[in-house]
Amino acid sequence: MIKSIDTRLAHLSENQIKEIISKYLNKEYKLSDIISEYKIDIAPKGLYNILPSITLDMVCEHCGNHLLQKVKKRTQYSDKEDIYCANCGHIMKSSKWSFEYCKCIGCNTKRRKVEENKKEIISKYYVNKNNNVEFKELTLKEQLLLFFLIKKNVANSFTVLLPFYDEDYGRFSGTADETIENYNILLEKNIISVSPRTKISAFDVEEFPKKVDLCRATFDININFTDEIIKALDDNTYFKIRNYSDEDLLELWKEYIYKDAIDKFEKLLEERGLRLYKTEEADENFKKLIDKISYVQLTYLCYKVTKNLSDDIASHKKKRQYVIDTAYESVSRYYENAIRLDWDVFESNYKFAGDNLKYFIHYVLGKDLSILKEIPAISILENYEAFVDKGDNRKNRYKRFF
Ligand SMILES: [Zn+2]
Ligand SMILES: [Zn+2]
Repeated sequence: MIKSIDTRLAHLSENQIKEIISKYLNKEYKLSDIISEYKIDIAPKGLYNILPSITLDMVCEHCGNHLLQKVKKRTQYSDKEDIYCANCGHIMKSSKWSFEYCKCIGCNTKRRKVEENKKEIISKYYVNKNNNVEFKELTLKEQLLLFFLIKKNVANSFTVLLPFYDEDYGRFSGTADETIENYNILLEKNIISVSPRTKISAFDVEEFPKKVDLCRATFDININFTDEIIKALDDNTYFKIRNYSDEDLLELWKEYIYKDAIDKFEKLLEERGLRLYKTEEADENFKKLIDKISYVQLTYLCYKVTKNLSDDIASHKKKRQYVIDTAYESVSRYYENAIRLDWDVFESNYKFAGDNLKYFIHYVLGKDLSILKEIPAISILENYEAFVDKGDNRKNRYKRFF
């Protein structure tokens, strides 16, 4: 069935118009021949534009009217034409490459319903899990993890962490891998939980709502902070006035050195188009270095190894993939060689340490940053010069770090 005929075709019967369409689709017919045969008053290249849409057997899912489709263009590579409803404006894209949504009222309503339904499922699945644990009841390690996440988060709130990555807010500092690792530690202890306010787009389509992209999720912080604690955290006095065991401090000191050095190493490699490939053995050996050399020597080694390896690639001495596979273990190997051959291991500048490590040294250990020139040990902790906070008058002094 054919509808709304152009005046230049009005002198023809419905069957004739069908013939014209089938001749148009068959390239053996010249357009000029079709036009003269049916006495159509138009230039050949204008013929396509006046051909009527074809009414299909299918009906519109929203209003039930028959759907229409324009005749396919003669050009060799043209897509199939879209199917549409002349009554309500609904469009079904024919090209699988089109990701545009149909914006008709029916489709908008349908999408809104699906979204509302999903939101309800999410809010039932991710209920608020605050179990009234006080911040001071957490271990030092947990407190620091949470505190650093809060300070690096755009929300700067003690109740919510906005997404690590978000189309609207951008991306907050730190690497995704490390942040996700930290999220997982805190999620496991229910210190944070995925918020029911997380955007629908953060959830996996297939494993909805169970699986969520942690980089795009919003988190509720399930811990209570008293005003007094918030003030002490803001003043950088909270961690200082507490008594922690030397063993705990030493363990965390090494952990923050490890995280910072890895972060630096990864960035150095990335700058040269390489990446860090971690094997368990190389990781063990790298950690052992923290007991053998200072932080500033360790980060110097990372720099030196990166430089040597990228030079080796540039001069075709080593293959790229080989370098990626072995970069991590090269750090401890370089150290062994240095010892064997009596080379000096130089020092990088401790001022370039990352924010978390700096904060830890100053406000948890209460020491001067130059302690990064020492190999971590309890004896150093006891004897090293204390950090004197020169106390600029800005209220939120942690901002110097974050
Ligand atoms: Zn319709
Ligand atoms: Zn539609």
